[in-house]
Amino acid sequence: MTTRIKPTMAAVTLTLACLVAPAPSATADTAGVQDRFTPGAPGVGDPYFPEEGNGGYDVGHYDLALDYDPASNALVATARIKARATQDLSRFDLDLKQLTVTGVEVDGRAAAFTRAGQELIVTPRRGLRKGKTFTVTVAYAGTPKPAERPDLGTFGWIRTPDGAYVVCEPDGASTWFPSNDHPTDKATYTYRVTVPEGTQVLSNGVPGGEWTRGGKSTFVWKERSPMASYLAMLAIGKFTVQKGETESGIPVVTAVAPNRADELKGIHEGTIQAIDWEEKVFGRYPFASTGGIRVGVDVAFSLETQSRPIYGYKPDTATIVHELAHQWFGNSVSLSRWKDVWLNEGFATYAEWLWDEQHGGPTVKQTFDNLYGKGDNWPYYDELWIKRRTGDPGTDELFTITPYWRGGLTLHALRERIGDKAFFALIKVWTRANRDGNVTTEQFVALAERISHQQLDGLFNAWLYTKEKPATW
Ligand SMILES: [Zn+2]
Repeated sequence: MTTRIKPTMAAVTLTLACLVAPAPSATADTAGVQDRFTPGAPGVGDPYFPEEGNGGYDVGHYDLALDYDPASNALVATARIKARATQDLSRFDLDLKQLTVTGVEVDGRAAAFTRAGQELIVTPRRGLRKGKTFTVTVAYAGTPKPAERPDLGTFGWIRTPDGAYVVCEPDGASTWFPSNDHPTDKATYTYRVTVPEGTQVLSNGVPGGEWTRGGKSTFVWKERSPMASYLAMLAIGKFTVQKGETESGIPVVTAVAPNRADELKGIHEGTIQAIDWEEKVFGRYPFASTGGIRVGVDVAFSLETQSRPIYGYKPDTATIVHELAHQWFGNSVSLSRWKDVWLNEGFATYAEWLWDEQHGGPTVKQTFDNLYGKGDNWPYYDELWIKRRTGDPGTDELFTITPYWRGGLTLHALRERIGDKAFFALIKVWTRANRDGNVTTEQFVALAERISHQQLDGLFNAWLYTKEKPATW
């Protein structure tokens, strides 16, 4: 994610960057077996977001069929979610905010459900044995509303004059579909989105067909790489679309709203240049497609939605480099818990600085020295050094400058300590070994120590876990 805070005193720009519900019935085979089946937890245990995600199952695939009317913001939808039970499961939760659920089935049989806050609690007719694969179908409808955060403002489902788009980091997926809304449960996606004829739909991944019938058009998109729910994206409205290919043959789909037509060339060409360069530095691009979408309304941030970022303002090169760097750092190599958000944002910020270094701009060392050298009268001094910990910034402060800038500075302190050879090897091993996976800061520190043959806990403790300006590294 990037936001548009631009400290004027810095040489760098911050781009922060249907069905019927039966009465619940417990009908396991025998009373003894029934006792074994227990409810899945209402969250995955992330202290920053106790209700996000759910326990007891692992989603493999979301198939989302949505019918959306931009004029009224009315959504009528069916989500078919393929999952595997990870315990003997008597009932389980999905995360869904606000929208009205009209019916739930598990494996084609009506299931009981209740709502409690953002939890949709589903009780299948029979317990689900550990290891069993099942399909839960949720029919729902309503007028989706965005969510709010102190550090971001409005996010989630956002209406535009001719449609809508979604930018869901960190917990906005539940504003438009029922999900296991935590990055630890990545899954593949199919979208089938029906809109009035003349309206277009863009999404993650690759197009899977489109047709028009009876005044309505349906667009199919498929994301075949595992994806965290907050990276699921739709852009509905009118767009000018440009297609192309990167140097390594990855298909590029770039789209801009009609009132942003003058930005198409810059975003399309900038995307190809950024991916070509990033593949050299980070390793092979992790997904089957790329591109970018510039929506027609200006908002304060852009988001690295998987394979195809959403730009909420005219992106400069740094923003494009940042959002596309996230395809490796955050999207392919994903967080296990939100407190480690610097692993996403520190790397994406570092990518901006490194782009400058390798394209005739300031070296990363100059950027580092510039920020490190600011005195305590600099307006961002406390933000950067004193206010919060980079490696544990706080739930409402995930998208503040500490995980971004100090995260990037942490990586440069590491580079100076272990040298360029080990540092750039580390980046490539990190992205390759953890492709499509989930990681923690501890895993990054361990890998850095293994590759550099140095003990680095002192460096990382000073940079990530103190509220002071590190003196040495
Ligand atoms: Zn970012």
